[in-house]
Amino acid sequence: MSNFKTLDDLGDITGKVVLLRVDLNLPMKDGSATDVTRVEAVKPTILELADKGAKVLLLAHFGRPKGQRHSTMSTSFVQGDVEKVLGKEIMFIPEVMGPVVEQSIGILRDGDIGLLDNVRFWPGEEANDPEFAKGIAAHGDLYVNDAFSAAHRAHASTEGLAHYLPAYAGRAMEAELKALDAALGNPEAPVAAIVGGAKVSTKLDVLHNLVGRVQHLVIGGGMANTFLAAKGVDVGKSLCEHDLADTANRIMDEADHAGCTVHLPYDVVVAKEFAANPPSLRTSNVHEVAKDEMILDIGPLAVEALGDVLKTCRTLVWNGPLGAFETEPFDAATVSLAKTAAALTQDGSLISVAGGGDTVAALAQAGVKDDFTFVSTAGGAFLEWMEGKDLPGVAALTA
Ligand code: ADP
Ligand code: MG
Repeated sequence: MSNFKTLDDLGDITGKVVLLRVDLNLPMKDGSATDVTRVEAVKPTILELADKGAKVLLLAHFGRPKGQRHSTMSTSFVQGDVEKVLGKEIMFIPEVMGPVVEQSIGILRDGDIGLLDNVRFWPGEEANDPEFAKGIAAHGDLYVNDAFSAAHRAHASTEGLAHYLPAYAGRAMEAELKALDAALGNPEAPVAAIVGGAKVSTKLDVLHNLVGRVQHLVIGGGMANTFLAAKGVDVGKSLCEHDLADTANRIMDEADHAGCTVHLPYDVVVAKEFAANPPSLRTSNVHEVAKDEMILDIGPLAVEALGDVLKTCRTLVWNGPLGAFETEPFDAATVSLAKTAAALTQDGSLISVAGGGDTVAALAQAGVKDDFTFVSTAGGAFLEWMEGKDLPGVAALTA
């Protein structure tokens, strides 16, 4: 995974045209972005290439136009937000290939930045059509991919272009790949994985992959209910996939054979109704959950025990909250264990990598997002990586 080229491998790129794949699929409200984290993530790469005198052409998708021009999904909608984050004007180019692109490149000076239109306006993008990729590649001298979040898709702009131009990982991609490699590729043992969230069914491949790679597998959230039920525990009216009992048992057997300890909670936080601070709230041993109660978080004893496990570990990879963290006080376990992991990371005893939409939100809620070694905002690509899959966008860079 480490044999990809980075910006350190670029020679003199003065006057060269760089096709730079970025993630500009920003959440929008009333015509402007509500969160520019994705732009901030690629800013160092954009500015480094521009500072080196390249003409930088940003290539991105925006929404799901399904291979057709769509007036509401032009990347021109994010031009202002990108300019604000970069502190620089950029030129919008309403095509991805052809004479308009060629003329625009002629107008751009060395170090200038252009923004191509939504690459998904053309069906060749998602079909990864070689002719389409060649058509875009014809305008550039180099291809840089800085969009890890799109690397699980084999599209022309995320995978195809790497076959027709010298290909490099941008700084954000480089950081992400190094962090993921340190967490699961070549991690320092012992390694703990925390897998939480709502349902086992959405994370079967993650669990199968992890049991063979980590020494401690912590299962929390609604998923823990399914595992507890599989062991014969009565989980009342908790969120639980009873039909996955066999699967859960098989995963526990696999873990046993691989020498991986599976940690399930022995105390839990329960309530009769799912609401903030409900009157029926109580902490219970897992064996004493009533028929009309549901498990909404793991309990304080479990959190303390898991903290002790993390203290013996060198590496942690975390996906999925331990409880229904959006509602008070069912965020308590997630917040508490996140703080422990953050403190161990800051002490230098733990390498901590986390990802997943709700996981990132939960870590932000705990106020420790910046105290982990790396927090991935890549969503689908992060999960596919946790499933042990080869990501085509990454594979193309390392070929
Ligand atoms: P991520 O987005 O980080 O991959 P998931 O989407 O898999 O995480 O899971 C997050 C969801 O799981 C949250 O909405 C949370 O409320 C829910 N959840 C966690 N524990 C429970 C539980 N015990 N009962 C019901 N929902 C839960
Ligand atoms: Mg989610």
